[in-house]
Amino acid sequence: MTSVAFIGLGHMGAPMAANLVKAGLTVRVFDLVPQAMKSLTGLGAISSNSACGAAAGADVVITMLPAGKHVRSLYLGDDTSKGLIDVVAKGCLLIDCSTIDAMSAQLVAKSAAEKGLDFVDAPVSGGTAGAAAGTLTFICGGTDKAFEQAKTVLGNMGANILHAGGAGAGQVAKICNNMLLSVLMVGTSESLQMGIDHGLDPKVLSEIMKVSSGGNWTLDKYNPCPDVMPNVPSSNDYQGGFMVDLMVKDLGLSQEAALQSNSSTPMGALARSLYVNHARQGNGTRDFSSIFEQFTNSQQIKDKG
Ligand code: NAD
Repeated sequence: MTSVAFIGLGHMGAPMAANLVKAGLTVRVFDLVPQAMKSLTGLGAISSNSACGAAAGADVVITMLPAGKHVRSLYLGDDTSKGLIDVVAKGCLLIDCSTIDAMSAQLVAKSAAEKGLDFVDAPVSGGTAGAAAGTLTFICGGTDKAFEQAKTVLGNMGANILHAGGAGAGQVAKICNNMLLSVLMVGTSESLQMGIDHGLDPKVLSEIMKVSSGGNWTLDKYNPCPDVMPNVPSSNDYQGGFMVDLMVKDLGLSQEAALQSNSSTPMGALARSLYVNHARQGNGTRDFSSIFEQFTNSQQIKDKG
């Protein structure tokens, strides 16, 4: 039976680890916040006192952490503590599912390879709902051999396991996707509001655009205008879903990547500025479709003036 160490049990990591336990794998868990381990141990996971303690002896290590600095220090260690690559067993497969910069993923992959270990970057798409339902999309970077191995364990947590290319390619593909998503969300929001300002019903306009050349994922699955669609954050005061702060983080990563490759990303740069502004107005913890209010508010201000 495969034994997995799962480190980082936040909004995403906890439900992902729960699906591994439900699939019958032996799962050792660790989070810096002891409380985060409680719900997992209740399901049958084994708690550990440290990340290295969880990882020692595991067949597979999976991490789900906030940012690149956390991933680098956990895998590579520092002056005071050993890294995961120093303590795992020979043949252990390392999989990081966090969304981080590609350079950090490549650095960890290279350091792991120097110790004879395979590392796969496997950021996810699908949010907390996808994590709970086990329907995430994993976007992987790594060797063919490591990807094939990773696919088996990731299949317990996701519906689509995709191979983008070598080390770091999963992270690049993930931020390309999120940059496009942000642009689609902003464009859909401003188009819907312009229609409303001209007296159109946003439900009717959405149906028209869905089957016309402006059709896109946000109209199909995640309409940003309140009360157009049931069961989406816009119809629940923009609660739940994918936080504005996380979109700001991903758009920052996209612009760092654009600088490194000298790519021209004017729409991504503008989307980042709009989302940063939105976060600074106190919307950081709301769903990213709340960017719609940037356009409704400007109309209300015009009406008052
Ligand atoms: P989170 O902040 O809820 O969870 C992160 C967890 O990591 C926390 O519980 C924290 O205590 C733990 N942690 C940090 N450093 C650690 C260490 N050294 N050892 C052990 N535990 C440590 O974040 P999240 O929402 O679960 O997101 C995790 C990653 O997934 C991020 O990179 C995020 O961008 C990405 N992501 C999130 C979503 C989403 O909808 N939340 C969707 C897709 C991708």
